[in-house]
Amino acid sequence: MKITILTLFPEMYDGFINTSIIARAVKQGKVEIECVNIRDFTLDKHNHVDDTPFGGGRGMVMMCQPVLDALAHVRKANSHVILMAPSGKTFNQACARNYAQKEHIIIICGHYEGLDARIYDEVDELVSIGDYVLTGGELASMVISDAVIRLLDGVIEEESHLDESFENGLLEYPHYTKPADYKGKKVPEVLLSGHHENIRKFRLKESLRNTLKIRPDLLENREFTKEEIKFLREFAENGEFFPSNLVKIIK
Ligand code: SAM
Repeated sequence: MKITILTLFPEMYDGFINTSIIARAVKQGKVEIECVNIRDFTLDKHNHVDDTPFGGGRGMVMMCQPVLDALAHVRKANSHVILMAPSGKTFNQACARNYAQKEHIIIICGHYEGLDARIYDEVDELVSIGDYVLTGGELASMVISDAVIRLLDGVIEEESHLDESFENGLLEYPHYTKPADYKGKKVPEVLLSGHHENIRKFRLKESLRNTLKIRPDLLENREFTKEEIKFLREFAENGEFFPSNLVKIIK
């Protein structure tokens, strides 16, 4: 897979590309990351990439010409073009899985007040990484690239994905490592037992408990197994937090 990033600040990606799992994925040829400086596509001698907004107001707006010329330079028939924007649809694990199937994604990073709205017509989708405003799209593009690259074949062990948050519609269960007793805080006994079936049940139950407590919205339209419903009933019977809109699941 190839990821092309159109940005005014390519130097921001040095640490991202050259560190840990992403660096290894690049080295092993699982992904190619190309950072293209939008400023290289300006036509005026001062290399202007932005101008004041029509209609007045504060801030500078990135101009169509350098952005769209940069896009035309890198775009191929198989490219999927994403524009980073707080007003876009919110990125999630399902989007990451979808992008991980693509041969080429191009991510356009805005800066300043954002981009001329006519650029929106030339992209496949506007994507946000959450309901807050960053100074630029660079960090957002790294978030998306990271989430996608770790899903590519062979980048990390396939099994590591299976129990991760969101993969089965639940948040993950708690992890522990040595020592088994840290200043009196003990690791749950079952994890030391070596009994695989009991460990599986414990982890599933804790996943359900975490999701119920922290992200009950994830459970609203999820299909449950009989075993999961049994655990949910236990939570309700023991007086644990149980949102009223989810009671239908255990009826
Ligand atoms: N004026 C814009 C608004 O109100 O929606 C915010 C512009 S922001 C300061 C500059 C750029 O950062 C945006 O064009 C976008 O590329 C990027 N950006 C900021 N927050 C983002 C977010 N939550 N998700 C994705 N990109 C974001």
